[in-house]
Amino acid sequence: MATSLQASPAEIQVQHTQCFIDGQWQEAASGKTFATINPATEELIAEVAEGDTEDVDRAARAARRAFDSGDWPKMDARDRGRLMYLLADRIEREIDELAALETLDNGKPIRESRHVDLPLVVDVLRYYAGYADKIHGSTIPIRGNYFCYTRREPVGVAGQIIPWNFPMLMTAWKWGPALAAGCTIVMKPAEQTPLTCLRMAQLAKEVGFPDGVINVVPGFGPTAGAAVVKHPMIDKVAFTGEHRTAQIITRDSAETLKRLTFELGGKSPNVVYADADLDAAAQGAYLGLYLNQGQCCCAGSRLFVEASAHEAFMEKLTGLAKNRKLGDPFAEDTEQGPQVDRNQFDKIMSYIEKGQQEGARCVTGGQRHGERGYFVQPTIFDAVEDDMAIAQDEIFGPVLSVLKFEDTERMIERANRTFYGLAAAIWTRDVHKAHDFAARVRAGTVWVNCYDVFDAAAPFGGFKMSGYGRELGEEGLKAYTESKTVTVAL
Ligand code: ADP
Repeated sequence: MATSLQASPAEIQVQHTQCFIDGQWQEAASGKTFATINPATEELIAEVAEGDTEDVDRAARAARRAFDSGDWPKMDARDRGRLMYLLADRIEREIDELAALETLDNGKPIRESRHVDLPLVVDVLRYYAGYADKIHGSTIPIRGNYFCYTRREPVGVAGQIIPWNFPMLMTAWKWGPALAAGCTIVMKPAEQTPLTCLRMAQLAKEVGFPDGVINVVPGFGPTAGAAVVKHPMIDKVAFTGEHRTAQIITRDSAETLKRLTFELGGKSPNVVYADADLDAAAQGAYLGLYLNQGQCCCAGSRLFVEASAHEAFMEKLTGLAKNRKLGDPFAEDTEQGPQVDRNQFDKIMSYIEKGQQEGARCVTGGQRHGERGYFVQPTIFDAVEDDMAIAQDEIFGPVLSVLKFEDTERMIERANRTFYGLAAAIWTRDVHKAHDFAARVRAGTVWVNCYDVFDAAAPFGGFKMSGYGRELGEEGLKAYTESKTVTVAL
């Protein structure tokens, strides 16, 4: 199959739509399927196996076997790392095809899937491949005549539940540390975007991952997802999605006391001081919100602008938003594609309406774009007040709320007045202001004079109701390990 950046959806072959369990492709036990839709055209792409309790049970048993009696956790760690490098190489070789499949299923512009998401997928897998043989405990000087040391062992079978906004990248964020640590996997991709995760499972099989190490069960959250959370053979659940779903998962996992890591939503403050490079800040605010159609958990959706710079800054920012190119996600110059589905589209449009009703000023956008596909114009609300719904709720779309500030103390207090705490950013030339803000804002990531800078080595995760645990970096790896203390009498 030859795909290029100009690939048309009709040229893209969808090769895998079944459950991937114990190295085999199989229909759902119920025989049921569900539709995955192209959000740019609202047309059916493919029917996908609708996994449920029985399929998750098969997958969990396969993963358990592969962990308890298979080679994977016992394999020489360098060989485990080598397989991961092979998977990364294979993905890199098929990068055009995979990017096209991602754009088809998710709607994100091809230039983003090809030049942002996919290169990060490869990078994360390589980063963790290099970690596979560098996981070790420590020796501990305890009282008495003993030799005491710790071992870092894999946590076991990892249940992984991911959202639809970065389908392949979230798969890599989850698989990378789990595989490096020696865990086996039962993954439930999002029902809106199952295709690239399934394709990745096939590539893993082809490069030689043993059967049962990676299992993928597509399906819905309350059925297949809940079955992962409740299954007694699964030791841990790593989840990315909404905080309300995380609350359900917490309750559902109580019976089996699973280890949990959560990466949830945000309403991240992005602060622009008058002394900042305003052009750079406008670019940062623009990308920090509109990247991926605004469907980023760390989107800088509350933009605090110092009053003295407000007018000049808004002119720059509004100009950028007005010129944003919306349309066919397969066109190389498209900057913004459709929202992922009808639900998200409706939710965003209802927030735009609420913003207008609550008295915020819509300075650009505010409408659907076109008549087919779930496109929303890049929208900016000015004169937003702290307690408006558009300043409090995660909209997960291209809707930016602008708030003015004059006093730093009060701004920090307002920035923290949210139950989220995922990310924050500040634009200033004053190092004191930058470091003071970085220390006092309650968020897991702070960007200074930049936004959305991600690296496989830098931990990412939330304070407060934005989650617990961290992904990426060494912390992300540790979340897939148990520490064992061994004490030897001498
Ligand atoms: P979003 O609004 O981004 O879809 P969700 O939290 O609803 O966020 O979904 C993220 C992932 O969680 C999806 O894979 C979804 O199927 C799954 N999910 C939804 N509800 C549940 C649940 N009750 N238990 C387990 N997983 C769920």
